[in-house]
Amino acid sequence: MLEVHQFPCLSDNYGYLLHDSESGETAAIDTPDADEYLEQAKAKGWTITHIWNTHWHPDHAGGNGDIAKAVGAKIVAPQEVEKLSSIDQVVSHGDTVTLGSHTAQVIDVSGHTNGHVAFNFPDSGIAFVGDSVFALGCGRMFEGEPKQFWDSLQRIKAFSEDTVLYCAHEYTQANAAFALHADPDNPELQAYAAEIEDKRSRGEWTVPTVLKRELATNPFLRADDPALQARWGGDAPHETFAAIRAGKDNF
Ligand code: ZN
Ligand code: FE
Repeated sequence: MLEVHQFPCLSDNYGYLLHDSESGETAAIDTPDADEYLEQAKAKGWTITHIWNTHWHPDHAGGNGDIAKAVGAKIVAPQEVEKLSSIDQVVSHGDTVTLGSHTAQVIDVSGHTNGHVAFNFPDSGIAFVGDSVFALGCGRMFEGEPKQFWDSLQRIKAFSEDTVLYCAHEYTQANAAFALHADPDNPELQAYAAEIEDKRSRGEWTVPTVLKRELATNPFLRADDPALQARWGGDAPHETFAAIRAGKDNF
């Protein structure tokens, strides 16, 4: 059985430790803060055996070296992570990685950066998506192209709709404000945004989210919806996506 231990770190990241109780293996999903990860693992009585990086940004791979040095964890990462640390096993789209008897599919979700992957566990109904998709948002397009990013989001949309999405940041409140601007007549979005306001006013987390809800409300996943195409333009969905992404960048 897989257990996800989630904790806030840095200013708005979430850290994740994924533990398999049968084998005793523990994966650090990204490494925003080595000390925090090591402390959290210690408090759980776990030893980090693997590091799985989603992409090379320092708030995702910056702690690789210190964690590997402290506990000898094996670094599993897309090639681009070599900008920040050594890699023991390079992964890319179509690969699988295992924690005990649990298998994750490595999915290309590039667009925020090149070489951005998600780790999807179809049998457990959970996925670690880094900065590709957020609750009501998606990552800023630093290195990718709109078509590439849109195609990445299609791969996430193809996960089972009950999949629990573990995103890497608590950006939801700001995302909700933009989503309401992007898609003002969506009643499900309005209800979701009100719930988010409520949760954040009590200091509660809005992550993880569930794919089904994002499919109905997240404007970046809905760039092929007629209402969004009419409002944001574009002949093809990736063009509408590009317009919405640019709208968020300037919101
Ligand atoms: Zn990032
Ligand atoms: Fe990030």
